[in-house]
Amino acid sequence: MRDEFDAVIVGSGPNGLTAAAVLACAGRRVLVLEAADTIGGGARTDEWFGPGIRTDVCSAVHPTGYASPAFTDLRLTDHGLNWLVPDVSLAHVAASGTTGIHREPECTATELGADAKRWRTLVEANDPRALVEQILAMPTVPRRRLMRTAGFAAAAALPTELLVRAFTTARAATVFAGIAAHAERPLTAPGSSAAGLLLGTLATTGWPVAQGGSHAIVDALASVVRAAGGRIETGCGVTDLGQLPTGCDLLFDTSPDLVARLFADRLGRRYTRALRRFAYGGGTCKVDFVLTDPIPWADRSDLMARTATFHLADDIAQIRRTEADVAAGVLPERPWVLGGEPTRIDPSRAPSGTHLAWAYCHVPADCGVDVSDRIVSEIERVAPGFRDTITGVRVTTATDLQRHNANYVGGDINCGAASLSQLVARPVLSPTPQITGVPGVYLCSSATAPGGGVHGMSGYRAARAVLARG
Ligand SMILES: Cc1cc2nc3c(=O)[nH]c(=O)nc-3n(C[C@H](O)[C@H](O)[C@H](O)COP(=O)(O)OP(=O)(O)OC[C@H]3O[C@@H](n4cnc5c(N)ncnc54)[C@H](O)[C@@H]3O)c2cc1C
Repeated sequence: MRDEFDAVIVGSGPNGLTAAAVLACAGRRVLVLEAADTIGGGARTDEWFGPGIRTDVCSAVHPTGYASPAFTDLRLTDHGLNWLVPDVSLAHVAASGTTGIHREPECTATELGADAKRWRTLVEANDPRALVEQILAMPTVPRRRLMRTAGFAAAAALPTELLVRAFTTARAATVFAGIAAHAERPLTAPGSSAAGLLLGTLATTGWPVAQGGSHAIVDALASVVRAAGGRIETGCGVTDLGQLPTGCDLLFDTSPDLVARLFADRLGRRYTRALRRFAYGGGTCKVDFVLTDPIPWADRSDLMARTATFHLADDIAQIRRTEADVAAGVLPERPWVLGGEPTRIDPSRAPSGTHLAWAYCHVPADCGVDVSDRIVSEIERVAPGFRDTITGVRVTTATDLQRHNANYVGGDINCGAASLSQLVARPVLSPTPQITGVPGVYLCSSATAPGGGVHGMSGYRAARAVLARG
């Protein structure tokens, strides 16, 4: 292989494939090596439940992917990707009622009543596309955007508990906390508002699904790679430097642990220290369901039929307790739950008459406990009769997640905690934290800025760094 390739990318998640696509389109000869039997990392879709029943194994909803400058640049929609964008970005279901967060701010304002203005000022004031460019490019912020970015960063640095004091209604505070808690941080933690502000802003562009399943995103990326002459090999786990050619660039869409081990004696002191200190977050337990009917929500409005995403928490206290328990290593008794019914928006996922849903909750790192009974109970409370619609269940515990993908250390779905320090320095404070200091070696997974999500920006930035070097 010595002279065959200019760059080898280890790992075919959205970041690895984005890096490969950018390099291949620039004329570099690229090879992608993937440990699993299929490409895609956290954007795989499987037919566990039978032919034609397409279940997203990990990621399901794509606000950051839809807004990603990398995916736009690579013109994934020319390679078969079709976004289906519901007009309700998410529905927050509480025992006291359901709140929709819509793409259309006027509709959200109607739902939030007394807090409509505050929501608009705090969450929707940002121009979503510009914000994404800023966040996804951080910490390299163009000078003309400094002021606006500084304003966003100051709010994002606040603990959620502090930021929600701006709202006067329990409803707005609970909905915001649910969005913020995607980051799996205690609500008292500095920086825990960041995900709420980013994903809340992106509710106005949309929280879409990919038609046919999330795999359509990585299939489109792979199509770009192959069309530009790149090669992708599956079933090739890299554990040893001897498996890789010398004399070409190496980009690792992997956990920092692998890079630390392979280059232990060559990484600079600063990068070694950063990787040693790198902290992973808590775990996740996910349940996939096959149903005879859509979930029978007690809420009879049409909100649930117009969204791909639901959050279940009676109040902010339930979210607070869940995230505090998880951070303390305790399994939450009544976890708050995130979920979706993809067949509501994309009927192509299953044969007619079959419905799909998924739901997950946060659990402590390395937790091997199946918490599907707790998740089902939470859904049943707001959708009586749900249990009777279930014809198939598949549970993926946090330890299963790590077995499925080595990047999900302890079941951490973002390959690194979203703590304030790791929002800023991920894994080091640098305009291009993908550069490891070993010539030609890059870390390009979501362990690097801008962090978790299917948006490809870590891979994009690593590839741009390779090209900038000439
Ligand atoms: C349950 C769950 C739900 C999620 N929901 C969403 C969501 O709705 N929306 C969203 O945007 N994000 C979601 N995410 C997060 C998202 O999937 C990840 O942030 C994203 O996939 C990270 O991309 P990546 O390329 O950095 O790494 P990954 O997608 O993790 O890909 C890494 C790849 O590298 C391979 N690999 C690792 N080590 C080696 C090795 N030594 N040799 C060869 N190959 C190797 C792995 O097998 C894997 O294929 C979810 C994740 C999970 C697990």
